[in-house]
Amino acid sequence: MLGGGGKNRDTRLRKPNSWKQVIETRRDNPGKKITDSLSTVKTDPDTFDMYSEVAPLDELPGVMQNKAMLGFRVEFPKWARRRKLIDYGWEVIKSILRMDSWQPLLEMSVSGKKEDDLSALKNQIKEFARSRGYISGFTKVDRRFIAGCRDEKFPYDTALVLGMEMNKALLEEVPHPGRKLFDFEIYVESGKRVFEVARFIRSKGYRCFARIPFDGWVKYPPHAINAGLGELGALGVVITREFGPRLRWTMISIDADIEPDKPVDLGMAEYCDACRLCLRACPGDAISEERVWWRGVLKRKINDTKCWPYFVKYEGCGICLKVCPVNRFGYEECMKAFKKNGEILGKSGNKNWRKNQGAGDGKEIRMPAL
Ligand code: SF4
Ligand code: SF4
Repeated sequence: MLGGGGKNRDTRLRKPNSWKQVIETRRDNPGKKITDSLSTVKTDPDTFDMYSEVAPLDELPGVMQNKAMLGFRVEFPKWARRRKLIDYGWEVIKSILRMDSWQPLLEMSVSGKKEDDLSALKNQIKEFARSRGYISGFTKVDRRFIAGCRDEKFPYDTALVLGMEMNKALLEEVPHPGRKLFDFEIYVESGKRVFEVARFIRSKGYRCFARIPFDGWVKYPPHAINAGLGELGALGVVITREFGPRLRWTMISIDADIEPDKPVDLGMAEYCDACRLCLRACPGDAISEERVWWRGVLKRKINDTKCWPYFVKYEGCGICLKVCPVNRFGYEECMKAFKKNGEILGKSGNKNWRKNQGAGDGKEIRMPAL
C-alpha cells in the first residue's frame, strides 16, 4: 500500500488546439477521481494532468530520436521474415477494420427493449464475458489515458475491462519461441471475441463500442487496475489474482451508467520490493531498481529504449513475465509463502533476501518528470 494522491479536483481536462491556437476544455472525466484516490499507485494529480494535457500519452519521448533504438529498427527483426507474422498481421488488420469500419454501423442500429436493471445487466455481461474466456471488471474511463485527447475513440464513460489469459506453455518458450507467439495469439483471439461481448451488450438494448487488444488509443492497464482486476507490478504490467501478469487487455465503452467495481490492494508493491526477479532477469536492464516519479506517477519505470532492442531480438521478449513468481506459482501460493516467512518462491537463498538487499525500506528517488 502506497497511499493515494486523493485530491478532489475539477475532473475536466484541457487540450491544446494548435489549429485555432487556443486551449479547449474536454468533456467530463469521471475516471479521474478513481485514479487519483488509488491506494496502490501514488499519483501527483497536478503533474499528471499537466503531462496528459500538454504532452498527450501517445507521444513517446525519445522513441524515434534514440539512435540505439533506431539502429535496431532498421536491422529487421527476424520474425518480420517469417510467415507467422504475416498471418498474425492479417488477422490484426481484420480486427482493426471490424472495429473502425463495421462497428460504427452497428452502433446506429441498436434497438429493442433496454434491460432496466443495471445491476442485473452488469452480472449478465460479466457472466457472458466469462463464457468467452475473459476476466472482467467495470470502471469509468479516465480520459487522461486516451492518446492524443481523442475522446471519440472511447465515446461513453462506462468502461468494461476484459482480460484474456496468455498461454503459459508458449510463455515458457521465451526467449526462443517456436511457431506461435504468446502475445499475438491473444491479440488475434481476443480481437475476435471482444466483438461477441459487444454484440451481447447491444442485444440488451445499449450502445457500446469495443476496442481491440492491439490498439494504442486507450491505455488498458490503468483501467484494469481501477476496475479492481489487479495491481501494477514492477515489470510494468498488471498482476492479477487469477493469472499473475499473464494477460492481455481490451475494453468496451458502454452507454449505460453501470456501477464501477472497486480497486483492490493485492500487496504487490511490498512483494515486488522483496522479489525483484524481473529486474535481475531483464537482459536490457530496462526496469528501474527503485520507484521513480514519472509524469505524475510513482512507479518502477520501464525504459523503452533499453527494452526495445531485446523485444525485437527475442520476438516479443517477455522474459520478465516468464520469471515472475506470480506467473510461475500463482498469486495465492506466492502470498502464502511471503506472509509466512518472507519467502519469494523460485528465488534461491531467499529467506533473508529482503533484509540483505534493504528492499522495502521505502527508499524513493524523485526524478524530473521529463
Ligand atoms: S520485455 Fe524483456 S527487455 Fe523488456 S523489460 Fe521485459 S525482460 Fe526486459
Ligand atoms: S518478478 Fe517479482 S518484482 Fe517482478 S513483477 Fe513479478 S513479483 Fe514483482
